[in-house]
Amino acid sequence: MKLPTFEDTWQNSLQWQPTEKQLEKWEQLYQEILLINRQINLTRITDPQDFWEKHLWDSLAGVIGLDFLPYKDSLKVIDIGTGAGFPGLPISIIFPHWQLSLLDSTQKKIKVINLFLDALKLSNCQTVIGRAEDIGHLQQHRETYDLGLIRAVGEPSVCAEYVLPFLKVGGIGVLYRGNWTKAEESNLQTALKQLGGKIILVKQFQTPLTQSVRHFIYLKKVISTPRQFPRSVGIPKQKPL
Ligand code: SAH
Repeated sequence: MKLPTFEDTWQNSLQWQPTEKQLEKWEQLYQEILLINRQINLTRITDPQDFWEKHLWDSLAGVIGLDFLPYKDSLKVIDIGTGAGFPGLPISIIFPHWQLSLLDSTQKKIKVINLFLDALKLSNCQTVIGRAEDIGHLQQHRETYDLGLIRAVGEPSVCAEYVLPFLKVGGIGVLYRGNWTKAEESNLQTALKQLGGKIILVKQFQTPLTQSVRHFIYLKKVISTPRQFPRSVGIPKQKPL
């Protein structure tokens, strides 16, 4: 099984095209994932078209074409709850001059990502094992990132409590969502007021192959996050702000 390239689809949906080299790296990543998946259940998304849409296209759609991102700079990026490396790995392949931290609390997943980093020679990524609630308080991570990404980790206000502490003032957080409701937005607003952030853009997409609904919520950190956030391990989920 080989990944489709879908040059026209990239162009039509995101006004962007991958290079030959990037296509090659994605193909390599896909093959590595298929191989590991025979031993451990890393992802349910293994069909080539499914993988293309849900892992590649979706990861990139969240970060391409934003007029408030200084793309040329060597951005410091964190992917919180990266799992098998999404959205962080496909992004690291198209922005080799960005520095990515891939954070997950599951050692097994981080071990697998380390294998991918070696196999694909991705020298711009480092992995971090731990809970966002703990790592977000460490000096070497707190308020040091330009961009924070979070997909499929929890409710929006929980994601905000995980992401905001990592961002520099002026930094951007991206919440990858399916549906987006008024109730979620209002809960998120309540959380952001306490965390020092605000919503600057909500972007809606239909995915190009299956026409599923996707939303990307862009947050900007406007003031420093108070020291008490994130709260202790488990509390953000049990008692969302
Ligand atoms: N972002 C990936 C994986 C989503 S599954 C994707 O979209 O495909 C959620 C992942 O978040 C799991 O791998 C889980 O281990 C991790 N996770 C959940 N809560 C976390 C926390 N508090 N800190 C760090 N990682 C967390």
